[in-house]
Amino acid sequence: MSKKRILIVEDEPSLVFTLRDTLENEGYEVAIVEDGNEAVAKVPEFQPDLMLLDIMLPGMSGFEVCKRVREMKLNFPIIMLTARDQEIDKVTGLNIGADDYMTKPFGVKELLARITARLRRVNTYSKPGPIDVVDLGEVRIELNKSKVVRPDKEIELTTREVELIRFLVANSNEPVSRDTLLEHVWRYEYSTNTRTVDVHISKLRSKIELHPDDPRHLVTLHGVGYMMKMP
Ligand code: CA
Repeated sequence: MSKKRILIVEDEPSLVFTLRDTLENEGYEVAIVEDGNEAVAKVPEFQPDLMLLDIMLPGMSGFEVCKRVREMKLNFPIIMLTARDQEIDKVTGLNIGADDYMTKPFGVKELLARITARLRRVNTYSKPGPIDVVDLGEVRIELNKSKVVRPDKEIELTTREVELIRFLVANSNEPVSRDTLLEHVWRYEYSTNTRTVDVHISKLRSKIELHPDDPRHLVTLHGVGYMMKMP
């Protein structure tokens, strides 16, 4: 197995030194940039599996970097490194697509544990691929046009629904928990919870199922979550 790549975006030399040393010792391939603009440029070239991202950076803030990365439709985990007690930063970070945050100064062991946990979760589920159309027999989901074509009508899909379908289809015929959907589709946005997932699934089901009360594809697994059944 090839080494997992971690991109460190941090401008504090002593912290960079510690992080590089620790992560390389753990067997990760590490790249370092100290500037927000360079971080955005480095991502496509280095193709990190995970990014450690400081907030206060020269060039461009960590928030902006995070936003740009997500706009590139890249879903690798981002752990933000915040200064002590910047509560507002944590909320902002999670809202714009960061997966986790560490408050400085943090223990190296805890950071390694979080990194391992994040990388493991990513590996458990398949990332959505560039699928344009999902053929469910009588119903065709045109993801590229954000619509559902059914025998009785055509229905528009929201951006979130498209993202939800992409994730479910990438992991079709596998049980997917509500927490997993929160993490991968909503990325733990502020004020979302498992109820949010249920509401969206129910709405989506009424769009893609001809008989939502007796779904053939988007099924509920009681006590587990949901599953997209595909031929
Ligand atoms: Ca900094």
